[in-house]
Amino acid sequence: KQILVTGGTGFIGKELCRELTSRGYSLTVLSRQPADTVRSLCGRVEVVNELEALRNHSGFDGIINLAGEGIADKRWTDSRKQALRSSRIDLTHQLAGVVRSWERLPGTLVSGSAVGFYGDQGRNLVTEQTEPHDEFTHRLCRDWEQEALALEQHGVRVCLSRTGVVAGPGGGFLQRMLPPFKLGLGGRLGSGEQYMPWVHRADVVNGLIWMLETETAAGPYNMVSPNPVTNREFTRTLAGVLNRPAIFPVPAPVLKIALGEMARLLLTGQQAIPQRLQEGGFEFRYPQLKDALADSTKT
Ligand code: NDP
Repeated sequence: KQILVTGGTGFIGKELCRELTSRGYSLTVLSRQPADTVRSLCGRVEVVNELEALRNHSGFDGIINLAGEGIADKRWTDSRKQALRSSRIDLTHQLAGVVRSWERLPGTLVSGSAVGFYGDQGRNLVTEQTEPHDEFTHRLCRDWEQEALALEQHGVRVCLSRTGVVAGPGGGFLQRMLPPFKLGLGGRLGSGEQYMPWVHRADVVNGLIWMLETETAAGPYNMVSPNPVTNREFTRTLAGVLNRPAIFPVPAPVLKIALGEMARLLLTGQQAIPQRLQEGGFEFRYPQLKDALADSTKT
């Protein structure tokens, strides 16, 4: 089967590509990077640099759409917010336009989103039915999802991965957190009471493939482990796995000065659970944080 992947060179995407290839899929990766670079990350894949070049394609069996500027890479100035939006929403809009021009439409589109869809949820238990709080990340995810869902009316099965905070070796948010923790200078962020809906990258990869392959799957799925923890608990577990103390909390005002509005990513959260994945019979390889962190921090 032929699958088109966007964002295939990313922290999640490169593992996804390798796993799909090992399961016998043929991949085309849409990337801004040179073909050699893409193949060094993704393995043996076809590389396309321009979306328009896909117009002449005879069609794919499925699409996994993960591309987007890094949400935590730079301060959220107005122009940065616009880049975060257009790299997801405009790209997905254009992708859907190209897909509609094909004679044979793909059976499935698995498209990215995030738990940020729900905005700050305090201590609420968050399922796919939870009413979102209106803020920047909600509008970003909502509009990104809408562009993907537009293909439903053309008979494409659309699944949305509302991904949590992804832990895995060699990248993601942990890579930034690890240096202070390894020096014993880690600590909770703000009160530490905010929830972190973490998930191991291997489960994200398997979950995305589960959506691709499960004919009855459709709509939004919380891609989070079944055991969300507070930042305080996360901090304690990470320190334990690294065998270091974590006694240096970072006060909320310091984070707000350093990061501006982006501090919300660290100071607010969602106690999200993967209700629909579990109802669908999906099984997690890393349901427990301690195991997920031990695997993600091994050298
Ligand atoms: P990465 O930042 O590692 O990779 C994203 C990919 O998107 C890049 O490899 C890049 O591909 C592509 N991309 C970046 N900017 C642009 C742009 N302006 N135009 C077109 N393509 C672009 O992301 P992750 O693998 O960590 O995550 C994948 C998706 O899942 C992202 O959209 C992210 O928001 C979402 N997500 C991730 C979470 C996490 O904790 N990692 C949590 C929740 C959601 P190339 O350079 O090849 O063009």
